[in-house]
Amino acid sequence: MDSLDDNSDEYEDPDLFNPSVHRMTTPDGVRVCKDMSLQVPGQVKGRYSSLCSDDELLDDDDPTLWQGGDLSKIKGSVCLPNTGKLDSATKEDSSQLAAVIKMGWLDKNPPQGALYYQRRWVKLDVDYLRYFDNDKEIYSKGIISTAFITNVTGVGELKFEVATNNRTFIFRAESEAERNDWVTVLQDCTRGRHRRSTMNPGSPLTPDYQGYLELKGLRSKLYTVVASDKVFLYKNIDDYRIGVGITSIEMNVGNVKDLDRRSFDLTTPYRIFSFIAESEQLREQWVDAMRNAIGEALSNSEVADRIWAEPNNSFCADCAAPKPEWAAINLCVVICKRCAGEHRGLGPSISKVRSLKMDRKVWTEELIQLFLLLGNERVNSFWAANVPPSEALTPSSCSEERRRFITNKYRQGKYRKYHPLYGNQRELNNALCINVQCSDVLETLGLIFCGADVNCSTGMASWPSPLSLANAHSQPLQAELISHNLNTELPRSEVGGAMEAVHYSAPPSVSLNGFLFKTASMARAITERKAREEFSRRWCTLNDGIFSYYESDKNSNPNGALKASEIVCLVVDMPEKHGYDNTFELYSESERLYLFGTDDPDSHKEWVKSIAKSFIPASAEPLLRLGFERIGRLKCKDGLNLQTSKVGWFALVGSTLHAYLEDSQGEEIHLRKLNELSIQQDNEVLVLVERGRTLYIEGERKLDFAGWCGAIQTAAGSGGDTLSQQQLTETDIPVIVHSCIGYITQCGLTSEGIYRKSGVNSRVAALCERFRRDARSLCLREGEHQVDDVSNTLKRFFRELEEGLFTSEDASTWLSTAAIQDESMKISQYQLLFNRLPRVNKATLQALINHLYCVQRFSELNQMNLHNLAIVFGPTLFQTDGKDYTAGRAIEDLIQHYTLIFEVDEHQLKKQLEEITVIIQVREKLSTKFPRTEPGGHFICTVYLEEKKDTAEQHVKIPGSMTAAELTCEVLDRRNITVKDKEYWSCWEVSDKEEMERPLHYQERVLPILHSFGTDSHLLIKKYLAMETMIIYLTSKVDASKHGMMKFREERSILGLGLTSGSFHDRYFILNLSSLRMYKEVRSNRPERDWPVKNLKVYLGIKKKLRPPTCWGLTVVYENKKQERQERQQWYLCCDTQSEMREWYATFLSIQYDGNVWPQDGLQQTRVSRVLPDTRHGNVSLIPLRGSENEMRNSVAAFSQDPLAELGVAPVWDR
Ligand SMILES: [Zn+2]
Repeated sequence: MDSLDDNSDEYEDPDLFNPSVHRMTTPDGVRVCKDMSLQVPGQVKGRYSSLCSDDELLDDDDPTLWQGGDLSKIKGSVCLPNTGKLDSATKEDSSQLAAVIKMGWLDKNPPQGALYYQRRWVKLDVDYLRYFDNDKEIYSKGIISTAFITNVTGVGELKFEVATNNRTFIFRAESEAERNDWVTVLQDCTRGRHRRSTMNPGSPLTPDYQGYLELKGLRSKLYTVVASDKVFLYKNIDDYRIGVGITSIEMNVGNVKDLDRRSFDLTTPYRIFSFIAESEQLREQWVDAMRNAIGEALSNSEVADRIWAEPNNSFCADCAAPKPEWAAINLCVVICKRCAGEHRGLGPSISKVRSLKMDRKVWTEELIQLFLLLGNERVNSFWAANVPPSEALTPSSCSEERRRFITNKYRQGKYRKYHPLYGNQRELNNALCINVQCSDVLETLGLIFCGADVNCSTGMASWPSPLSLANAHSQPLQAELISHNLNTELPRSEVGGAMEAVHYSAPPSVSLNGFLFKTASMARAITERKAREEFSRRWCTLNDGIFSYYESDKNSNPNGALKASEIVCLVVDMPEKHGYDNTFELYSESERLYLFGTDDPDSHKEWVKSIAKSFIPASAEPLLRLGFERIGRLKCKDGLNLQTSKVGWFALVGSTLHAYLEDSQGEEIHLRKLNELSIQQDNEVLVLVERGRTLYIEGERKLDFAGWCGAIQTAAGSGGDTLSQQQLTETDIPVIVHSCIGYITQCGLTSEGIYRKSGVNSRVAALCERFRRDARSLCLREGEHQVDDVSNTLKRFFRELEEGLFTSEDASTWLSTAAIQDESMKISQYQLLFNRLPRVNKATLQALINHLYCVQRFSELNQMNLHNLAIVFGPTLFQTDGKDYTAGRAIEDLIQHYTLIFEVDEHQLKKQLEEITVIIQVREKLSTKFPRTEPGGHFICTVYLEEKKDTAEQHVKIPGSMTAAELTCEVLDRRNITVKDKEYWSCWEVSDKEEMERPLHYQERVLPILHSFGTDSHLLIKKYLAMETMIIYLTSKVDASKHGMMKFREERSILGLGLTSGSFHDRYFILNLSSLRMYKEVRSNRPERDWPVKNLKVYLGIKKKLRPPTCWGLTVVYENKKQERQERQQWYLCCDTQSEMREWYATFLSIQYDGNVWPQDGLQQTRVSRVLPDTRHGNVSLIPLRGSENEMRNSVAAFSQDPLAELGVAPVWDR
């Protein structure tokens, strides 16, 4: 919805359109402001109600329908903003995207009982015949779907009849010829359409949403249909069924605004439609549906899609906002709506603004080609060659900033790249005449906007102007460019015309010289130790911003030199990494790496400092004072501006990344505290997610970027086994502790014996290891991770923690405090000790005790009261053997007096406990519907037979080994259904939300599927009707492979932010044994994409919201679990026919299961004996859950040795 929300801002530009008050000009030129809500004049009310029973209610001829009170007196009809800021071409095109086949004035027969014909402006396009009050109207009085026109015949007196099944419309033309022409055209256009439409009732109008809506001011409701990119209004549902409506609203100019509970406005530049839905909920659905239609409309445009095919054009040339829908056709820039507003302000003599979506006529093939050839980036290499970073726009810049920038850029040409001939008119003209004969349009652009006169004389009689010269030399793009600039006003700098000075102040000059030892430069990272012999002695100098090295101090010609401005990164190696004790690496812009060494630590330090100083700008100067391991420049983007990259200067010190981004203060990023750190987009972007912000570091160059990634990842990982060396949350709690506590709170508070029962040792060990490697990247999930494994992971972490939670110095004091008799003395002693703990220990202890406090508050459910918890956690946290109960007593104290010792806000705590109660209640409710663990360790799940309804429910115990075929047979058995020959009963995974389903392969295990799907999915047993066809198809094939065209759409996300966009495009696919490849077209040599088939999961169906172009769609899920971070993409394929889709699906299936798509001997034969041992896991009880303290103490010893090891029994499916 994000993208659609963007679109809904469409008309908020106050200059263009004000949503509630409409600025318009009457024919007299008088500006009036008028609320555009539809009104019915009061005096006609009586008549209105009397018409309620009339078939012709709201008919086209009712003069009150589209008129707004006073306005009708001014103009006789609703006023349109016919001057405003929209020029008439725009208006015309936007209102009528479908090509008009014929239009003209006709008289239309009156409604029943009336006497006079009414003069109507009638338009015909391929889908509709519409008639209007007059030729200025945007919204029709009536609209007849051509698909429903059954017959068109000429009748007497210049008349003709347009017949639908239920109604006949009679029109009268002005002449015989005109009448005949209409009849012919209408017949041509409707012939065959009617039949097609009955065969395929969905077409041409497949409604996305429909129902009655009240239109404010009208007393009866209108049947409203949202279909694709339009909204249609009908008098009632019967009219809708016969294809006779009132009007259609093109949503490309629409904007939907929520008003109050049930009402909302659909605003277009020409009218506001104020609707009232029947309920608040329905209003939301209407608003959604209409916003979707707007999204659809906006993604419809062919021109925009073609222009955006050049990637640089998909971001505004001025502010980098995505999907710019406008262009300045003479300046050759593609711009966003807000910038377009400012361009318009410059006037057409400077910027000719046209819409990619609406001004279709202007977009000739040549103009499109010109824009594709140039592209925003190349054009900006001229227009924006010298933009000071402080003046650059971002998509969020305000109007004033835009105005200033755009005026500077185009009116004054302030940032342009000056042509060498600038100022020399004759030479410029001459250069233009020569250049237009070749294809270099960028040069022409530069010449024109640096002063070359496009109307100059070429001196050649046959081709007197540059334009004619370009045409004569078959340079249509040159001609196009010139033709749009014949009257352009040239940029004029108002302040002396001086160019901007260099924007980065030159670094202070440093100089240093001396001997260093150098290896040969490299194009790859150094992975091995460089021995002393590999270094050669070189005389090195750093002077005037150039670092040079010479054979010796006697030589005057350097062996090599590196400009300081070319240095992008300086790395200080750990001592003794190479043959020389002290080494450093220099990375150049051209991706070379230089390694220098010396035995003298002081000289090393001096060189590092001086070189860093030579290439780090003054703005990032504080970095130089740090003891950095790595310093340099990287391109990056951050949350506020994802389109434009900025230059950032970074230094890595320990686990802190110091950064100076363009125009901003220095900042520190604590790498161990990151919420997320990942490398995305084929190793090209390093994503650092902090609380509240995300930084994207881009791999501008491979070599130094790879080094940064490695170093940052290492620095962000846990640095050791003490508490403070862990990856931490924002509040200084180790991520592992935070994750485990969070998981237990969500899923484990009702688990009997939580923290006391042991987990499965191998799994606990694996979890610990995963947390150690990168705690951030591990997300604990219910189903995937078991409660007892997680609880034991947390215990193991504390038990193995170096120096312990209470620190090695103070642990014994904590223990002795437990012995203090006086309660209040004891508490203040605990408080004292607590405040003495290091920051991280303090935060961790408080979080843990808070958690344990909550656990015991729910001891009725989990049987872990204060005492039981203390027995478990005492020895764990104090790392004692457990024979002595002192540790337990201390923990018992801490939990019992939790609110006092930690000075807890009671109100906060109450809220927290309430939240937990809600979690428990919700889970209770869910567990009746969704898989849950039974004491025996199986999963119980609800499977439906044929249809998802209560009476079709079966609750089936699903052991880990159960296959889809077994489950299918089980359910069929229970229902006493015998499988007949050629009946392909299958188990389906159905997702309601995604509107897709997938028959599980008969050998597929069911349990992992259950674990993987969300609450909106279910299992269904039903026949797979297409299986027979698919088997026949597969047996007819020699090998399993397929190729052909399909329509492709992906859920593209900008830098992983999940903003989806896009539409379906034709692509050519080749599917073979190993991979599915996608090509732009049949002739493309290189695939655009290449997916391994084994990682694809193919579902039948596509979410309707995505508007698949055909009903034969597949949703494909790509999952790669091998990588460190799980990767998941979802995209969509649409086939033209059902059989095409089946063939693709069958091929996928056959490849994925090696030709074995269905059991040869039928489903029943696949059943194996499913007698399973009554395995238990995770519930070995070590301590009696209830009992005397003595009983418990006796068993503590056994427990605390290593409660995790060996005792867990792996369940059957734990492979
Ligand atoms: Zn813009």
